[in-house]
Amino acid sequence: MTSVAPVPSAPFGQWRGGQATERAFCVLEGNANPMTLDGTNTWVLMAPGGSEAIVVDPGEDDEPHLRAVLDHVACRDARVVRIVLTHGHLDHAGGVDRFVAMTGAPVSAVGRGADDLADGDVLRAAGVELRAVTTPGHTADSVSFVVEGDGALLTGDTVLGRGTSVVAHPDGELAAYLDSLDRLAALTQPPDGAVTILPGHGPVVPDAAAMVGYYRTHRRERLAQVREALAAGCVSADDVVERVYAEVDRAVWPAARLSVLAQLDYLRGA
Ligand SMILES: [Zn+2]
Repeated sequence: MTSVAPVPSAPFGQWRGGQATERAFCVLEGNANPMTLDGTNTWVLMAPGGSEAIVVDPGEDDEPHLRAVLDHVACRDARVVRIVLTHGHLDHAGGVDRFVAMTGAPVSAVGRGADDLADGDVLRAAGVELRAVTTPGHTADSVSFVVEGDGALLTGDTVLGRGTSVVAHPDGELAAYLDSLDRLAALTQPPDGAVTILPGHGPVVPDAAAMVGYYRTHRRERLAQVREALAAGCVSADDVVERVYAEVDRAVWPAARLSVLAQLDYLRGA
């Protein structure tokens, strides 16, 4: 039983994307499912009246969605000058090759082998500056971005707009994830920290510090539950999932199993 209360967020169906901060607009992809929540958030970063856009996470290989993103930018007399990936999962990056073909823009991400991002790198377009903060854990290649001047943080799947994320074992690692949440906590610390989270899925989070705090507490609680499950005689990951995630929609049990495997590794000190 999870005791910490989630941070309230817009219920399913209410989040439709749109303008979230001065520079950040979300084009919501129509790929909603239990793992993608309301669908993938494709973030278009542009200064008001600016002629250049940075697109974060073009989404799946989904022509109508990619067209909608391009139309959004073209309607504002701007062009896409850079494509950025928060990580390589297909619901974020599956459409990247096609989007490159449509825009001719270069791709920045962690660990793609070209134009690789490192912690602290700054990406610029007209009136927009994104600062990369590497946040491995959900996956090894996960990266977040501070949107300079907007008090906003793009978190990909490291922190979502609703519910909690998955540590996608074996690529994802819990120790790294906990360190990344610590980094995000520091970046959202009042009074100067980012106040808004622009997540990879789900609604915009208007209280960044509260959501990161919830994620940290939730992770610690889950870990305690997994320890208890082992002490109670659970042996396999499936046993642990059945006990610890009993109240969670079975549609996400395969993902929960990955998080459990990551937690078992962590507890073994692997
Ligand atoms: Zn992901």
